[in-house]
Amino acid sequence: MIFEHKDYAPDHIVDAEVVVVGTGAGGASIGAHLAEAGVDVVFVEEGGHHPTSSFNPYLAESLPRLWRDAGTTMIFGKSPFIYAEGRCVGGSTVINGAMTYRTPESVLSEWQAHLKAPELGPAAMDPWFATVEEDISARHQIPGSIGGDNRIMSLGAERSGWHHQKNTRNQDHCVGANNCVLGCVTGAKQSTLVSYMPRAFKAGARCLTEVRILSLRIENGRCTGVEGRVVDPRTRKLAQRVTVRAKAVVIACGAVQTPHLLLRHRLGRPSRQLGRNFVTHPNVKVLAVYPFDVRGWQGVSQWGQIREFHDQGIIFAENMVPAGAMAAALPAHGRRVWEMMRQYNNMVLSGILVEDTTTGVIRRGPFDTPLPFYSITPADQETFLRAVRTLGAMHFEMGAERLILPFTNLHEVTNADQLGQITSSRIKIRHMELFTPHLMGSARMGVDRKDSVVGLDGQLWDLPGCYISDASIFPSAIGVNPQVTIMALGLKMGARLAETVLRSRNAGAA
Ligand SMILES: Cc1cc2nc3c(=O)[nH]c(=O)nc-3n(C[C@H](O)[C@H](O)[C@H](O)COP(=O)(O)OP(=O)(O)OC[C@H]3O[C@@H](n4cnc5c(N)ncnc54)[C@H](O)[C@@H]3O)c2cc1C
Ligand code: SF4
Repeated sequence: MIFEHKDYAPDHIVDAEVVVVGTGAGGASIGAHLAEAGVDVVFVEEGGHHPTSSFNPYLAESLPRLWRDAGTTMIFGKSPFIYAEGRCVGGSTVINGAMTYRTPESVLSEWQAHLKAPELGPAAMDPWFATVEEDISARHQIPGSIGGDNRIMSLGAERSGWHHQKNTRNQDHCVGANNCVLGCVTGAKQSTLVSYMPRAFKAGARCLTEVRILSLRIENGRCTGVEGRVVDPRTRKLAQRVTVRAKAVVIACGAVQTPHLLLRHRLGRPSRQLGRNFVTHPNVKVLAVYPFDVRGWQGVSQWGQIREFHDQGIIFAENMVPAGAMAAALPAHGRRVWEMMRQYNNMVLSGILVEDTTTGVIRRGPFDTPLPFYSITPADQETFLRAVRTLGAMHFEMGAERLILPFTNLHEVTNADQLGQITSSRIKIRHMELFTPHLMGSARMGVDRKDSVVGLDGQLWDLPGCYISDASIFPSAIGVNPQVTIMALGLKMGARLAETVLRSRNAGAA
């Protein structure tokens, strides 16, 4: 059952066995698992419930409805950059690119060894990944859904002798409409809006939408619920109070909002790690314009990735976006944007993702605003510049006539020789136009309360009854797209929490 802003009484109180705050990758997966195990679950979600039939390619309508602050949320640092987060039922999975990667085995082995936690090792995690892949239909694209930009990237890799791999994506009959970042118009993308949330509803879960949780209820040192306010979906003004009382509370607000909420209560005291170890998997875009029709928009974004340089922490991917998003991102204004967009058919938008070598921090700002800080290092700067030169050379080799670059002081080059201008003496960190949709690590999981925020069961060391199930709990950066890792950990924790809740229910009844 789904409730929205007009359904709430003046001081609305709801009881549940478990309240899950957030319905993205981490919240929906754990909530569905709990509900199907027979637990009485209430979700609370700040955004609205927008069904597939409401999705469209219009930026002005879709961004404020589905993206937090219409996509203007900033990370501060040497080069301030935008981070993207969904704010709707389904969270960021509604606006993501649908790539499904398991946590690399090397990362799992490191977690297993470093934390002395066999349950996080590759063999132990394998069944959780397999279940997630089945649940969200992770599979390769059918040939008819592949766009011209994908072909250029894979052919470019082939000619350069690089390893190109096809992505699996969580989709069922994706036709390549390329609207993933504004909501999948066909319902093919198996975001949690159309996968885990309907399963949770079928099992009896309730969802209070358009409610922002502002604090936790803490009684006798135990978390017993959450308190928030109804949000007017048009004006975003806060209205009446909503309280959910529960035996267990799961915070799944994402790696920025989760520490922001918990920092209000000065939690994470034993380790002082709450809000720290924030990693972002930063990326930049390189837009190649070809002298022939590519029609990248007629096909799925992100069919594959070039993994040749993964051991250096670099991934290249195709990244075509709807026309409105492309026009908004061009480094031009007025008539020039129009002239550039006339070549939309000829464009290949490619992305460069660089694995984190550093960490940032989330602080609480005024007016209930989180303040994320993160700066790339000079070594990352060199990696990005080298990667832009390498990918740029591939595009020129494939016949591109010019490249639009992610640097505020060098917007365009028209031949391969000009790529030589991309040096650290010319392009400083402050000139780089970074972006991130992958936010992780700000409330890390561990086995020692002195250097982690939650235990392996997701429970806060210093607040019994309060759990985290989202990207915040990653013990370190993972170097690949994170949704499968988040969901697998969500299911794993859900199984343990269901057992605890049902055991205590049965003990109460006895
Ligand atoms: C544009 C984009 C492209 C991406 N592409 C991919 C990809 O191809 N593959 C991949 O694996 N990953 C991708 N990701 C990343 C992936 O979607 C996220 O890592 C994942 O969804 C994060 O899960 P989460 O549970 O941590 O948070 P989210 O999915 O962001 O969910 C958090 C939810 O909590 C709600 N919330 C927050 N604060 C409150 C509050 N105080 N009260 C009530 N509700 C609250 C939010 O509204 C949101 O719905 C992409 C992300 C974006 C934005
Ligand atoms: S490409 Fe189109 S059909 Fe495929 S997942 Fe994205 S929006 Fe849906």
